[in-house]
Amino acid sequence: MGWTLFGSSASPDLSGDSSGSLRAFVLGTGSSGNSLLVEADGVRILVDAGLGPRQLEARLAALGVPLDRGAGRLAIDAIVPTHHHGDHFGGVEKIARALQCPVYLHRGIHAPRVRARFEVRDYDMGRRFHIGSLEVTAEHVPHDAPQVALRVASKEHALGIATDVGRPTHALTALLAACDAALVEANHCSEMLAFGPYPMRLRQRVGGGFGHLSNAQTAELAAKLVGSRLGRIYLGHLSRSNNTPERALETVASAAPRMNVSVLPHGSVCALEIRRSKAFQLALPFD
Ligand SMILES: [Zn+2]
Ligand SMILES: [Zn+2]
Repeated sequence: MGWTLFGSSASPDLSGDSSGSLRAFVLGTGSSGNSLLVEADGVRILVDAGLGPRQLEARLAALGVPLDRGAGRLAIDAIVPTHHHGDHFGGVEKIARALQCPVYLHRGIHAPRVRARFEVRDYDMGRRFHIGSLEVTAEHVPHDAPQVALRVASKEHALGIATDVGRPTHALTALLAACDAALVEANHCSEMLAFGPYPMRLRQRVGGGFGHLSNAQTAELAAKLVGSRLGRIYLGHLSRSNNTPERALETVASAAPRMNVSVLPHGSVCALEIRRSKAFQLALPFD
């Protein structure tokens, strides 16, 4: 247990390539572009595509993950955007075109151009679906566009992704409690937002119930998750104007002392560590 500060130079753990293991690589987090590659048993999905294909390839290369998998295999098997805001959706068309991969959309995502031009597979929020061997659960969360938090599970591991969340919900807590690790938004410090450079309307939008999670809200959520399967939280989608990595980390880690909390500064490119906590294995030996 402890606090870790991840920077863009964090090196990936490429050793966990055994059957059923889940690997995840953050390729961007924050308003300048969000994207996360999740991989297990030869299936790769891209959660959010706020980057273009060239950035995607360069950032994967920096992590030692080649985009080209050869032998006729798709470089990425699916793009799963959480919602249609540009920092999550802006690269969907270019990446789908470049990599010829399908796009999974929930019915709240308004994307007529993508539906007209690319292979789209619709899914319903609150239902599980599969992409190859990966099981994906999408839970609706409040935001100012129809938005989901995701749980992506392999045979061994489960990763939660919850950014752009206006306020925590019971369903979100339950979704994250069933994960081994999660990327969770700690967007802003409420005091910095209140006295920061944003105009009033934008402050109200970001801090409102359909905006983004504050450090304090994420801390409250993390405290509820202590003792669950979730052993590690990565804080992401930090505001550059209204937060600092140190504030986010201190606020959340102090509220959840038995949780392993790390922070991903704006624009981080790094591998995430996903492992089952020993306590959970002991508690549920037959799971
Ligand atoms: Zn966003
Ligand atoms: Zn958003």
